[in-house]
Amino acid sequence: IIAHEVGHTLGLRHNFRGSTLLAPQEMNNTEITKNKGLTTSVMDYIPPNIAPQGTKQGDYFPSMVGPYDEWAIKYGYIPIKTSTPIAEKPILEEIAAQSYKPELSYSTDEDVYDLDPTADAWDNSSNVLLYSQWQLNNSRVMWERLDKRYPLAGDGYSDVSERFSTVLGNYFQQIYYTTKYIGGQSFYRIHPSEIPSGVSQHRLPFEPVPVEEQRQALETLQKYVFAEDALSFSPELLNKLAPSRWRHWGSSPRVGRLDFPIHDLVLLMQGSVLRDLLSGDRLSRLKDIELKTKPENALTLPELFDTLQSGIWTEVIKPKGKPMKISSLRRGLQRQYLDILTAMVLRKESVPEDARTLAWYKLKQLDEQLKGVNSEDEYTKAHLLETRDRIEKVLNAPLQGN
Ligand SMILES: [Zn+2]
Repeated sequence: IIAHEVGHTLGLRHNFRGSTLLAPQEMNNTEITKNKGLTTSVMDYIPPNIAPQGTKQGDYFPSMVGPYDEWAIKYGYIPIKTSTPIAEKPILEEIAAQSYKPELSYSTDEDVYDLDPTADAWDNSSNVLLYSQWQLNNSRVMWERLDKRYPLAGDGYSDVSERFSTVLGNYFQQIYYTTKYIGGQSFYRIHPSEIPSGVSQHRLPFEPVPVEEQRQALETLQKYVFAEDALSFSPELLNKLAPSRWRHWGSSPRVGRLDFPIHDLVLLMQGSVLRDLLSGDRLSRLKDIELKTKPENALTLPELFDTLQSGIWTEVIKPKGKPMKISSLRRGLQRQYLDILTAMVLRKESVPEDARTLAWYKLKQLDEQLKGVNSEDEYTKAHLLETRDRIEKVLNAPLQGN
């Protein structure tokens, strides 16, 4: 932290590619980290490095400045014995010419709001997709411990509740990093003159995320957000999650609903991920990437819609025999999906026209698949019938010209 703040006083800005030095598999290898450190720069925001289950824990935090920091400080502060400032230029240019090296890659505050999964605060390693998946698994382990071993001696139940929320925050964050891969692209601040001769595989400023990584990200979201058992907690744990009753100056106990709103929470997470995945910005980006890469390297809109539809409506699309029963968490997710596609078809959302047409087509397909599906379970039965009714109303909605 001190090195980071001193870095600012010396003129350095944040570098959110600082965490990309090591592959996830190298992060806990102290033979590597004692020489290289954990990051290319102290000017990133670095989370504690937590090893995945079954791997010996290495360094939690970096303890040295990185190659980017040394390079940037050298550029700014190297003493050059010349009589005029202009005479320094060739020497500085020689230092700047190193910028193509991966360990010197740079991305600062105004670049991280875009869909670039390689540049973010609080992410870690050169493969955020894998590292985030490890952290999602770690979150599940921590929830498991809260279930089995907590509260610790001396703790109250509100301490369990706070820890549960902290882990949930971590889980949400890893999901966000994963979502960035879909339709993602990296942005590099480079100048054509910086590419040295002899470096054949040079970069361009924009680089779409490889399609395999986008597919993996979708699989991760299916497993950790949309699947039936993605967020399942024991009744024991849920009944432990008590709010604090501490009333004193500066703290007032929560009033209103006191028990843990588990349906609302799961739906909030699923709904926000789904809305983010199907946002106009992401969809138009995905469509543009079709023209910015070879056709086989693009995740097309039909593939995205199809993957989501079959992951969210699995019970109907790939029924596992009878009797059909759709759980309450899945019914909630399926309604959210329906809401989003309906808003597209009814032009309540600004999305590319192709996305609107696909939403219409997917609803029509789903309606066909819902025909003839029946259930003995009254919740499921009502849900399926109402879904069909809603889809048919949307598909038959009259056009209105304003
Ligand atoms: Zn800072």
